[in-house]
Formats: sequence, structure tokens, C-alpha cells
Amino acid sequence: MSLETDFERVSLPLENAFTISRGTQETAENVVVRIEDDEGTVGVGAAAPSEHYGETAATVEAVLPDLLGVVEQVGDPHQLDRIERRLRETVERNPAARCAVSVALHDLVAKRTDLPLYRYWGLDPEEAVPTSYTIGIDSTERMAEKTETAVERGYDVLKVKVGTDRDEEIISTVREHAPGATIRVDANEAWSPREAVRKIDRLAEYDLEFVEQPVSADDPEGLNFVRDRAVLPIAADESCVTLPDIPRIADKADIANLKLMKCGGLREAKRMIHTARAHGLEVMLGCMIETNAAIAAAAHLAPMLDYADLDGALLLESDVYEGVPMPEGDIDLAGLDRPGTGARGG
Ligand SMILES: [Mg+2]
Repeated sequence: MSLETDFERVSLPLENAFTISRGTQETAENVVVRIEDDEGTVGVGAAAPSEHYGETAATVEAVLPDLLGVVEQVGDPHQLDRIERRLRETVERNPAARCAVSVALHDLVAKRTDLPLYRYWGLDPEEAVPTSYTIGIDSTERMAEKTETAVERGYDVLKVKVGTDRDEEIISTVREHAPGATIRVDANEAWSPREAVRKIDRLAEYDLEFVEQPVSADDPEGLNFVRDRAVLPIAADESCVTLPDIPRIADKADIANLKLMKCGGLREAKRMIHTARAHGLEVMLGCMIETNAAIAAAAHLAPMLDYADLDGALLLESDVYEGVPMPEGDIDLAGLDRPGTGARGG
């Protein structure tokens, strides 16, 4: 068998500028990877690089020739384990670049098997958890409007970005405009440990589900301090990047927030899910701002999760791919009428 590969950068405009405690973005630069077999079947994947983890579209483009060289050399896309191991040996960092290749390969092998990816894996679509929809930091009036829009669109799990000097005002406003919603918050490392405990006490009055990454990932003892004292469950995101982080956070958080773009691929994500459960953690799968060419694959892991935050493509103004349907935030794997990840278009 022989495989042909190529890649292309895509610039994706966001519906609204997206602000978290660290900064603002208005477009997402993704890199789409295509792997074609000698029967003309094409698998697609994409990298959504994050500067926070040291990657940009340019660093992805710089390493993809070496990574795709591995794929062409192995030649058999069904050798997923061997290929992903060799991708890691070839480029140890650059997880988003490796992830793009992993997703494209999984799309290809599921298409060659003529099954949607979740069925290739043997997962139960009825077990899929709904995705949250993220409300980025903005003026309080704009956050109220965004909340109203989200409720109108039927999203009943909202993730609200905090880490400002008006966090309580933000959460009380969102709660006022979404009285029936499940609300989780994400501080993206913005608080000090003592500030976090104090703020979580206040914010908990608005009936929140959990708090994500209250303190710096560089402060594991601070995370431990918060988790011991906080009245809400704590999720670790920036503190939980690759598999060896799972045992490190196991007694410092309640929920591990995994992302394909942090861990470098679908097989690694599944290993992390099982490892997290073995350490007594609940499991959340999050995302970057991503084209459906990437996030469609993550959606197929939804039956293995406790919480999903897979709205990366829902936040785009327009996308070059369509993916797994997510009407009102419900990840509708059973409604997928095509094999592979479901990414279609491009
Ligand atoms: Mg987060």
C-alpha cells in the first residue's frame, strides 16, 4: 500500500472575538492534513496549535513534512500504534502537529472499514455527554447578550470564562440570563490560591457545576490548597497536558481536562482517559478553537467522558468542514450518516 499526504493552512474567522484571562483571539489558524490511500480514500485531520503550549501554524507546518514522511514510510494506515509511536519519536514536542496526523489516520482507517469512528472503536453513542458552549470574557452587557444567544440556540451547558476583577458580576449576569443552564467556569490560571478559595465561595452561590484551572499550572501546591478548601469540584486543564501529568494531579483535582491538541493524538487521549479513571479522576475532553476537521474526531470520544467541552467549531463564523452534528449541544453520533470522523468538505 502507498499513502499520499499533503497539508494546508486555513484561517478561520470567529463569530465573536474570544477573550480569556490570558488574551484575545479573532481568528484561528489551523493546519489541515490529508492522507490518501491508493484506492482514493482520503482521511482528514487538523492541527489547532496553541501558543500557550509553544505551537503556531508555522511550527506545525515546519514539522509536518517529517511527520508525514513517517506515515508514507510505514505505508499501512492500520498500523496506528506503530505510526503514533514513531511520530512521538520523530517530533517529541508539537503535539498539535502530531494530532493532525493521528486524526487523519483514524478518519482514513474508519472510512476504509466503512464505519463511523465511534463504531470502529465499539463505543455506545447513547453514552455521549453534551458539549458545553463557551461564553468568553467581554463587557457585562455583551456577555449577557451572548448568554441570551446561547440559550436561544438551545445550549443548556455553558462554560463561562472568568479571571477578571468583576467575576461575580459576570457570573450573576450569566445566571440571570440562563436560569436553567448548567454553568461551569474557567479561570485559566488567573487567581492566586487564596483568592481562588474566596472567589469560589462567592461564585458557588450561583449554582455552578465546577471550576476549571483556578491557579497557575506552575503552582501544584496552590492547586492542592484550592482543592482542599473549595466548595466546588476542581478541574485541571493547563496542569494536565500529557499522560505523566495524570498521577501528578490525581490528589490535587477532581476532574482531568484532556485535549487532543495537548496530548498529541487519539490513542494517547484514550490512554489518558483510562489512566485518569484509574486515579479516581473524572474525565473532561476540551478543545482549542478548531475546524470540524479536528474536532469531529474528538466528538467520537464523547461516550467515554463525564464532561465534554467540544465547542471549538461552534465558535467559528464559518468553517471549511462540517463534522459531527451537535444540535443544541447534544453530540449526535448516532445521527452521523457517514464513515470516519464525519469531517466533510474542504
Ligand atoms: Mg480551560
